[in-house]
Amino acid sequence: MIPELTDINYIKQIMENHGFHVSKALGQNFLINPTVCPKIAELGNAKKNFGILEIGTGVGVLTAELAKRAEKVVAIELDEKLFSILDETLAEFNNIKIIHGDAMKIDLKKIIAEEFADLQVAVCANLPYYITSPLIMRLLEEKLPIKTITVMVQKEAGQRLCAPVGTRDSGAVTVAVAYYGEAKKLFDVTRGSFLPAPKVDSMVIQIKLYPEQHWHVQDENLFFRIIKIGFSQRRKQLCSVLANHFNIPKAKMLAIFEQANIISNTRIEALTMQELVNLSNFLYKIINQ
Ligand code: SAM
Repeated sequence: MIPELTDINYIKQIMENHGFHVSKALGQNFLINPTVCPKIAELGNAKKNFGILEIGTGVGVLTAELAKRAEKVVAIELDEKLFSILDETLAEFNNIKIIHGDAMKIDLKKIIAEEFADLQVAVCANLPYYITSPLIMRLLEEKLPIKTITVMVQKEAGQRLCAPVGTRDSGAVTVAVAYYGEAKKLFDVTRGSFLPAPKVDSMVIQIKLYPEQHWHVQDENLFFRIIKIGFSQRRKQLCSVLANHFNIPKAKMLAIFEQANIISNTRIEALTMQELVNLSNFLYKIINQ
């Protein structure tokens, strides 16, 4: 019987046995708080008829909790030096497949189709923090057949991801997440829950993806262009920012705002999701006249 993967002495010993040193560059902060992984697995849909895609196994502490509950776990890990450790720590499971690769580059659509053919799919991970936002965006933009994304992120990133659209805490990534699904905070995790301890606290969030297109945006590229340019100059009046960017006379842009029922001097951070969608669709009409 392998000792608990949250036992610090065991983890230190196994790392030493395999000559493994944690890499800061790869965001390697391993979970050692025994309550956290079971909670992520329970809340993250690790259950019968579900295949779980995990990003970043570390020494396998979350992977094991997922495999105890889900039908199958497929994990992507970039650091090949962890593989001999994982052979040992996850030896008792026959429903885990670990793929060596970069989660930002690997073909996720293909992996999901091949590995989870008859299963519903959920993502669970304690994310390497240096790729939190781009990775979440990748999972959303590729429109993968995923039910939920349940991930540990830095507290500040989590607050941004879950902020209501139309508030000062929101950002481009908030709107992007709200476009594809509903994000909420599940629970806080203190920095002492990791080995080594990071300098900041964390939180686990969950994004429940809409099963089909929820917001009726006529041109997604245009919508996200507005979001990107708007939030890059978030303190300025949106009307002027968009008039400049799209090379449309200010008076014409003011008319678009009026049609969309949006006050002319607003900043992007004050707009609700529906207002952003309306604005995008009215602008689409003008551009394609
Ligand atoms: N799940 C483990 C845990 O909770 O203890 C490890 C989490 S650790 C924060 C992040 C893991 O992601 C590390 O094992 C790291 O090597 C891996 N990783 C970093 N960058 C990656 C990438 N681009 N693709 C896949 N895995 C990556």
